[in-house]
Amino acid sequence: MMNNEHGHVAVVGGGPAGMVVGLLLARAGVPVTVLEKHADFLRDFRGDTVHASTLTLLDELGLGERFAALPQRRLDRVMVQLDAGAAQLGDLRRLPGAHRHIAMVPQWDFLDLLADAAEEEPTFTLIRNAEVTGLLREGSRVTGVRYTDRIAGTVHDLPATLTVACDGRGSAVRAAAGLRPRSFGVPMDVWWFRLPRREGDPVGGVGRLSTGHFVVTLDRGDYWQCAYLIRKGGDATLRAEGIEAFRARIAALLPWLADRVGELASLDDVKLLEVRLERLRRWYADGLLFIGDAAHAMSPVGGVGINLAVADAVAAARILAPVLRAGGRVPVAELRRVQLRRWWPTALVQAAQRIAHRGLLGPVLNAEPSGPAAPVALDGSGDLVLAPARDLPQPLRLLRRFPALQGIPARLVAIGPLPEHAPAWARRRQQALTRP
Ligand SMILES: Cc1cc2nc3c(=O)[nH]c(=O)nc-3n(C[C@H](O)[C@H](O)[C@H](O)COP(=O)(O)OP(=O)(O)OC[C@H]3O[C@@H](n4cnc5c(N)ncnc54)[C@H](O)[C@@H]3O)c2cc1C
Repeated sequence: MMNNEHGHVAVVGGGPAGMVVGLLLARAGVPVTVLEKHADFLRDFRGDTVHASTLTLLDELGLGERFAALPQRRLDRVMVQLDAGAAQLGDLRRLPGAHRHIAMVPQWDFLDLLADAAEEEPTFTLIRNAEVTGLLREGSRVTGVRYTDRIAGTVHDLPATLTVACDGRGSAVRAAAGLRPRSFGVPMDVWWFRLPRREGDPVGGVGRLSTGHFVVTLDRGDYWQCAYLIRKGGDATLRAEGIEAFRARIAALLPWLADRVGELASLDDVKLLEVRLERLRRWYADGLLFIGDAAHAMSPVGGVGINLAVADAVAAARILAPVLRAGGRVPVAELRRVQLRRWWPTALVQAAQRIAHRGLLGPVLNAEPSGPAAPVALDGSGDLVLAPARDLPQPLRLLRRFPALQGIPARLVAIGPLPEHAPAWARRRQQALTRP
């Protein structure tokens, strides 16, 4: 079955980039339809970080109080746990502005909040269970999208003045447009699993680094979301070792989890997430724009992909809303302006991620562990015990000696190289929670 509907902007994908660009364009009075292939935002793999710059943006949009009402954890220090003890990499309390932390919020709560705010705008529509499978064209111009309603199994055409592809790393729109991103090698993939969190555990996010291992644990309140880095392509070998070997490995690295690794019933509880680092050379075509991971897939290093996706979305809405409001086609030159604005901060962050892959994670993951990892020490209040300065590598020793330097990595991660601000027409006064 084929239906025809009308829309001015079709946004493909309701992740951070898609929901933010949809909300902002709707606030500009532009008719916008966001097509999201899933029924809800409640999926296991979603980054949890809402950065200081995004918190500022939410204030500007009048959504800060609603966001503050969500259950969340606050990360104001970035710690790494080495065999010698813990070291502090970044101190977010040194950030400028009102928000001196990263909020750890399950991303589905953040996306629900954006969807609720957008649905208050008369020109906004969110269609769930809508999987985009192709592009509509007139000659070389993209004039909308074709999508399948995954419940009804029906196929629909959505004509659009502009299509904004926000469909993430495996972008179907990118494939339909025949574009292939440049790919930078990455040394790792991620094993993603949960373990219960209990009283007396450390708070916030902890990175645990030892020869041959790197695991990050994210505090989601009543459970730990764990990301265990494995060598790229190493999934089958590691799975062959079995669940018992993996439980022992986690228990040795993170002793406060040793009493509950048995909750991993089998390796079916451990999902493989493929890591990619890619970038399109051109983020646009006539009638089509790519932003977020669809334009530049980010590695999890630094946990900054969501921040960049949100910043892309704000810049795109700010640059394109005036043209869209005027009606008619969006000149390709305007789409190019979006790429020109967002290319360098993206390239800079990706360059930093490549350095971390090559200089740190690759060597760590390729090294054979010489023995069991040293146990992690917690003090009486559940905090990690700091390593003696003499046992730290030189850069970490410098950060310990001159704590003001810890403001630099904090700023790079929590604010990023080019934070974007809401345009005047998208700003609102603080809105209280409207949901019961
Ligand atoms: C293992 C791992 C951990 C990470 N952890 C973090 C972190 O903690 N913090 C951080 O900032 N970044 C993290 N990142 C990076 C981050 O996930 C991405 O950079 C970010 O999600 C990009 O946002 P996006 O909106 O562009 O795309 P996505 O978040 O990928 O959203 C894309 C959306 O499009 C939808 N979609 C896909 N295909 C279609 C289709 N055909 N039709 C309709 N809808 C479609 C999807 O369902 C999804 O909702 C991590 C990455 C990895 C690999």
